[in-house]
Amino acid sequence: MDNLRFRALELAMTRNRHTTAYPDQKASEYFGELTFNKAAMREYLTEEAYTQVMNSIEKGEKIDRKIADQVAAGIKAWAISKGATHYTHWFLPLTGATAEKHDAFVDPVEGGRGIEKFRGSELTQQEPDASSFPSGGIRSTFEARGYTAWDPTSAAFIMDRTLCIPTVFVSYTGEALDFKTPLLKAIYSIDKAATDVCQYFDKDITKVFSTLGWEQEYFLVDSALHQARPDLVLTGRTLFGHSSAKDQQLEDHYFGTIPQRVLAFMQEFEYEAHKLGIPVKTRHNEVAPNQFECAPVFEEVNLSIDHNQLMMHLLDKVAKRHDFTVLLHEKPFGGVNGSGKHNNWSLATNTRENLLSPGKTTKSNLRFLTFLVNIVKAVHEHADLIRAIIASPGNDHRLGANEAPPAIISVFIGARLTQMLDAIEKADSHVFINSDTDSGLLKDLPKIPEIMLDNTDRNRTSPFAFTGNKFEFRAVGSAQTCAPPMIVLNLIVADQLNKFKIEVDDLISKKVNKDQAIFQVIKRYIKESKKIRFEGNNYSEEWVKEAAKRNLSNHKTTPEALKAFVSKKSVDLFSRNNVLSKRELEARHEIRLENYTKKVQIESRVLGDLAGNHIIPVAIRYQNMLIENVKGLKQVLDLKTYGKLSQNQMETITEISEHVDKIKTYVNLMIDARKEANRIEEAEEKAFAYCEKVFPFFEQIRYHVDKLELLVDDELWPLPKYRELLFTR
Ligand code: ADP
Ligand code: MG
Repeated sequence: MDNLRFRALELAMTRNRHTTAYPDQKASEYFGELTFNKAAMREYLTEEAYTQVMNSIEKGEKIDRKIADQVAAGIKAWAISKGATHYTHWFLPLTGATAEKHDAFVDPVEGGRGIEKFRGSELTQQEPDASSFPSGGIRSTFEARGYTAWDPTSAAFIMDRTLCIPTVFVSYTGEALDFKTPLLKAIYSIDKAATDVCQYFDKDITKVFSTLGWEQEYFLVDSALHQARPDLVLTGRTLFGHSSAKDQQLEDHYFGTIPQRVLAFMQEFEYEAHKLGIPVKTRHNEVAPNQFECAPVFEEVNLSIDHNQLMMHLLDKVAKRHDFTVLLHEKPFGGVNGSGKHNNWSLATNTRENLLSPGKTTKSNLRFLTFLVNIVKAVHEHADLIRAIIASPGNDHRLGANEAPPAIISVFIGARLTQMLDAIEKADSHVFINSDTDSGLLKDLPKIPEIMLDNTDRNRTSPFAFTGNKFEFRAVGSAQTCAPPMIVLNLIVADQLNKFKIEVDDLISKKVNKDQAIFQVIKRYIKESKKIRFEGNNYSEEWVKEAAKRNLSNHKTTPEALKAFVSKKSVDLFSRNNVLSKRELEARHEIRLENYTKKVQIESRVLGDLAGNHIIPVAIRYQNMLIENVKGLKQVLDLKTYGKLSQNQMETITEISEHVDKIKTYVNLMIDARKEANRIEEAEEKAFAYCEKVFPFFEQIRYHVDKLELLVDDELWPLPKYRELLFTR
């Protein structure tokens, strides 16, 4: 009988490896050519339309209807000149993927002919049927319609000959059904709050942007091998698989030479990304075999998130052309490193400064300290919400698995800044600060060291680390969209800055000198948020104990972590800042719980199916071969020799039976647990049942299947093995 695994291996090994389809052209010649960027706008828009679009992007001004028609005409002309035939509103529904529904530009006219049409109203608003997107109960069927509205701050682009217009997606009753709506609100909040605080230091600062630079990790697997693993196809991860004799222990893959076939893929992918204006910059091998990373130059957060979403799509699309499948799952392989998506985040001003760059003067240092300490304080106040926002079934495998930051949220700031904050904490609170001159200020305090900017002072185990001029939120999962963590981060910092401003203003109104007032509040914040700071090894057992002593939470599973998402504190935070209402937040909570349940349910079904239909029959077939062999031995050998030599086979025969028996038992118990869980109506209770009653069987079943993999004849084994998945390239 034909073994699918061998057919796949044969295909994988005879690939045409090194062909790349990218032109002999300078990147600067094609960068951004498929985006309706400023240059394209200048060329295709009237002066009036251009000015309005710019005002809308920079100042949030509304574009009036008449102008919208002009803009639409310009975009249409541009898109058609690039070969586009269709247009779509492109949005980020709560599935975590992107959504689009294409319409042709062409409309029939008299005489059986057609002309391309695109009106302002089609650019600015559409009404896709929203009924099949998750809404967490917000949208009942009688109000199934939602509408999408143009977000001019993220440039329109062309993909697959379709003009894509980034939009928000809201229900008819005005509730957000996507990630972009609350993101834009959080961006507004942080702009306002940070600008207000900047005004203490510099009147020229009138706008603050939050910036994001993500680092995307992923695995590549040959498509034929991928196809021969139903678990990879249906769940994105391997549910079974004995570890390969060699995987990452020699640490020879990290930053190693990129394999030729992979490089060909990467070059083509980067070419496509650059045409779309995605500034991908860095490529390298990651720690695990067949694991890679890609990182762009940072951008304004809304654009950067759209770009990450687009690039995940591109990765997948281009990989297929090279007969690779991209695995974005956080933990596709047991026993080797999983994948993350570090979110590097900072705040930039209209005066082109980075608020998280330590300054050269005391005045700018006080500003730096103000932002640093407020961020630490915000994380301290909302650590549980931060943990909640990155919770997913995939990330549960990663957080705390001694390869990624733990489920305990803490902040790393480095030895020198720690010294600095410690000194402030102890300083006499009447220490005189005068920010007009640089002499005699904060003189007891160490200067903020320049070495901060070189990266010697780094801690790669921290979930939230200061890395010289930005924070690196390292606990985000590779498959997640950056939007939720960025909504939360900007929101909690905005909220914290607002509180800070109220406290400082209050002191100022009591005639305290401004800098002194800032200093006093910072000093208190340092003390109040001290327990969230941790400089040691986050992967260690000691930290788990120490964190428990400090009363920091350690939510290991998604359902547990998600509780904080709808706590009173979170609800107040989101509504106080007008980012999400209680109802919207609860709807999102429900969607996330349901998503958890469904994913574990699918895994459980695939696992049962594979164990029962793939593994056990093969194990029994091999066992029968052994039994035949033993019978044969008995016929040809004398009794004494037979007794001695058949021992091993007999042992294997018994072992196989034992494993098969265990697998059957556990699969049956798992199915019972699943049936029980399926009877539960309430979303949270159901998620907990899947987490605590169904999921624990996965490891137990896997253990025995992986043992069988080592016992059964390699020629019979149906699923591509780890060494094949991880080393074919
Ligand atoms: P590492 O792997 O050491 O963390 P990388 O160079 O791979 O570092 O990634 C650094 C990331 O940080 C890049 O995506 C980069 O664009 C981003 N980054 C740098 N400065 C900022 C900033 N001010 N704001 C946001 N992101 C930034
Ligand atoms: Mg990093």
